Amino acid sequence: MKIYVSADIEGVAGIAHWNECDKTKADYKKFAQQMTLEVKAACEGANEAGASEIWVNDAHDTGRNIDHSLLPKNTRIIRGWSGHPYSMMQEIDNSFDASILIGYHSYSSSAGNLLAHTMSGQFQSIKINEMLLSEFLISTYTSNLEQVPVVFLSGDAAICKFGREFSNNIATVATFKGVGESIIGEHPTKIAEEIKEKVMVALKSDMSKCSFKMPNSFIVEIDFKKPSKAYRNSFYTGMKQVSDTRLVFEAKEYFEVLRMLVFVLSF
Ligand SMILES: [Zn+2]
Repeated sequence: MKIYVSADIEGVAGIAHWNECDKTKADYKKFAQQMTLEVKAACEGANEAGASEIWVNDAHDTGRNIDHSLLPKNTRIIRGWSGHPYSMMQEIDNSFDASILIGYHSYSSSAGNLLAHTMSGQFQSIKINEMLLSEFLISTYTSNLEQVPVVFLSGDAAICKFGREFSNNIATVATFKGVGESIIGEHPTKIAEEIKEKVMVALKSDMSKCSFKMPNSFIVEIDFKKPSKAYRNSFYTGMKQVSDTRLVFEAKEYFEVLRMLVFVLSF
């Protein structure tokens, strides 16, 4: 069994400030370690379920957060960013049996996490087919595009709730509840234990229940914080500007949505 793990930091146990996500700040180290421990727990759960090979994508900011030496030996890590539109799911293909998302967080404009954002901080909100677009949804569609079901999600309580509403059979572990500029957090060791246990159970269950039919077409509505960003990105092929800050993009293929996002996000 070959498993893909995509990991972020803004949804790991206890995280409650941007300084805790930022490599250059003293507060960061502890949370990079927690990100490592949660990924480690997921890998151990996967190994108990019989994983032979695990690929880990270190998918926060610089892509250089996780301490690989603490993960099981049958893991391979993706560090940094290749620029491929698969982004947080780089290198996923249909040779994998399941995907696992760790440390994920709520989408731009959500009250569920004071660190809520989608890909970058430049969007006020972004929607796909009328659903608010989270990195969970971007990664889940990407994985599903390669016929790999996303069977497990950990992160803030609001993204876990969204995950369960989107995919009935996904297993989740909520790390904390966001309340205004605060969080109410579970104990980090308990979180890691729950991740290990639930990943193991998820990988032993009927994983095909987490697959779904991709939509026939996609409408992406982007509301930028700054009008200047909307103006510049309005020149992307196929983009329509509908107000000073809002753009609309339509595509038949999900890959075209990913291609658009990678270019829009790079400015
Ligand atoms: Zn992040």
